[in-house]
Amino acid sequence: MKVSCPVCRKMTQWKGNPWRPFCSERCKTIDLASWASEEYRIPAERLGEEELEEERRGKTDEPADVPSSEGGDAA
Ligand SMILES: [Zn+2]
Repeated sequence: MKVSCPVCRKMTQWKGNPWRPFCSERCKTIDLASWASEEYRIPAERLGEEELEEERRGKTDEPADVPSSEGGDAA
């Protein structure tokens, strides 16, 4: 069974995933941080994950300058 991560929308394995419903600890942290920021109005900089923050905005608003960040598999 796969679920889509509420943070980054990536399909992620549900079974055996300690971070579910998130895909990773990172997304779980981001979700908690977004809560905190809603409550305390603090920037998410403390995460040091500007890239992900940007991605979140891109999903709800419009793509930044990356045409498609998904499907790519460059390592
Ligand atoms: Zn995720």
